Amino acid sequence: MRLIWILGDQLLPTHPLLSSPSPDLLVGMIESTPRGSHLRYHQQKLTLLYSAMRHYSADLKKKKFHTLYHPLTDSPFGTDYSAILSNWIQEHQIREIHLLDPNEYDMFHSLSALSKKLGIPIHTHPSPQFLVPRKEFASWAAGKKHLLMESHYRRLRTERNILIDAKGKPEGGDWNFDDQNRKTYREFAKANPSVPPFPPPIQDPIVQAVAKDVSRLFPNHPGKADQLWVPVTRAGALQWLKDFIQKKLAHFGPWEDTMVEGQAVLFHSVLSPLLNLGLLTPQECIENAEKAYRDGKAPLNSVEGFIRQILGWREFIHGIYWLKMPEYREVNFLKADRALPRWAYNGETEMRCVSQAIHGAIDYAYNHHIQRLMVLGNYFLLGGYDPKAVLRWYTEMYIDAYDWVMVPNVLGMILFSDGGFFATKPYAAGAAYQDKMGNHCSSCRFDPKKKEGPDACPFHSLYWNFFGQHAKLFGKNPRIGMMVKIWEKKSSAEQMEIRQNALRFLNQQK
Ligand SMILES: Cc1cc2nc3c(=O)[nH]c(=O)nc-3n(C[C@H](O)[C@H](O)[C@H](O)COP(=O)(O)OP(=O)(O)OC[C@H]3O[C@@H](n4cnc5c(N)ncnc54)[C@H](O)[C@@H]3O)c2cc1C
Ligand code: SF4
Repeated sequence: MRLIWILGDQLLPTHPLLSSPSPDLLVGMIESTPRGSHLRYHQQKLTLLYSAMRHYSADLKKKKFHTLYHPLTDSPFGTDYSAILSNWIQEHQIREIHLLDPNEYDMFHSLSALSKKLGIPIHTHPSPQFLVPRKEFASWAAGKKHLLMESHYRRLRTERNILIDAKGKPEGGDWNFDDQNRKTYREFAKANPSVPPFPPPIQDPIVQAVAKDVSRLFPNHPGKADQLWVPVTRAGALQWLKDFIQKKLAHFGPWEDTMVEGQAVLFHSVLSPLLNLGLLTPQECIENAEKAYRDGKAPLNSVEGFIRQILGWREFIHGIYWLKMPEYREVNFLKADRALPRWAYNGETEMRCVSQAIHGAIDYAYNHHIQRLMVLGNYFLLGGYDPKAVLRWYTEMYIDAYDWVMVPNVLGMILFSDGGFFATKPYAAGAAYQDKMGNHCSSCRFDPKKKEGPDACPFHSLYWNFFGQHAKLFGKNPRIGMMVKIWEKKSSAEQMEIRQNALRFLNQQK
């Protein structure tokens, strides 16, 4: 008997190892309680994962595959993958196990030990879940000291003929249309675009059963399991993609960097939880977006902006993970070591922009990119927070968090912990950025324009203190060396005051 082991984040619509049922083939899926307890993963993330797995297995059964399924409820704490597989091997005389290359480095590298322990071979097969295979990315990256997302993106656009015109040039004559995108909050208020309502919790018997299991077995994990709002099936995922293309894509570009109180999603797609489970493929997201442009349903600035996220950033981040692991997890270029304040898990901080983002993460297991990068990421970067603690926080809080996507985004993109392997500068911003792109400042107890006194926005001193602290590292950086020069022109008294204010503020954070 052969066992095809389907991992929870590999729920592919066309699974390469499952062409047709056969009497000597079993398809197994495992909900592992110890794995779910590895970190305090958000309850909605666990609910999505296990609900999607249960649906996937039920669909395979309908297609006449002989399935084995180990649900959470049968799994006393301490029962791990190897114990469950071992039982199945004995019960069903399994002689070999096959699975797709796991997406997580540790899982991938644990398989040979697992095979020895189980006493049967485990064969892995290339996964079509990403557009760029790991080896292709590695050969593109070979010999390069730094990697630029832009070159990777342009190469893929050209080679795969995505948004390329009849003459082989980028559609619209340019590779990006950022001048039409990334509009400010003021422009948003003026345009007053109609934002689709936030989706209600998913009503589905499987989700309801899983949510009960999750809240019982993982009571101390953040969030509320029964508030899951993201679809859990292939059909639901396809409808979600269709709705995004029809109702939001046209507005995606202009408002992709805007932050609005009470609008957790705006015109973002929330496709990442589905893509990362395999319920949607990157190819179909890109094809649908390009078709909307060609059919005149969405403008090029929005379509290019969206395709850049998936073809550009997502594939790039995935490639970097496999290039740089396992050392990547240990990087700490800026020698940051501050412990996270408790408010990171309850949102009780007076910084309105930060508390709104954290409440979004607690309530929905989701923040859009700018909140992740320019609000929370910016705060953790400027405050010198320990990369391992920050990585843990992000991994625990988000519905779409998986090791391959978190490690490079947190360590490389927000914390500059890799010394700039792919980010050309740290994404550091002061209060002016938050005030321009969002409307949190108007209801904050701090004043973004004040630089001194008890009402001064903390981002002011944190920002300049960061450049003072790392002046030697960034003085020659062509993109931010100017900030170091400005810092150096400040009088010693002013520098001292900024440092003291920043440290006082950071030390008060509990
Ligand atoms: C610190 C930090 C942590 C992040 N953690 C995650 C994570 O755990 N899981 C995750 O999927 N994405 C993560 N991202 C990337 C990005 O923020 C999310 O993919 C996006 O916010 C998900 O929401 P969306 O689907 O509405 O995105 P949209 O704004 O609609 O973008 C479309 C898609 O582009 C892809 N994408 C865009 N940027 C990135 C990126 N930097 N890396 C990978 N994919 C990208 C996603 O698949 C996303 O669904 C992180 C970014 C940062 C800065
Ligand atoms: S004033 Fe400062 S802390 Fe308050 S919302 Fe604005 S940027 Fe954030």
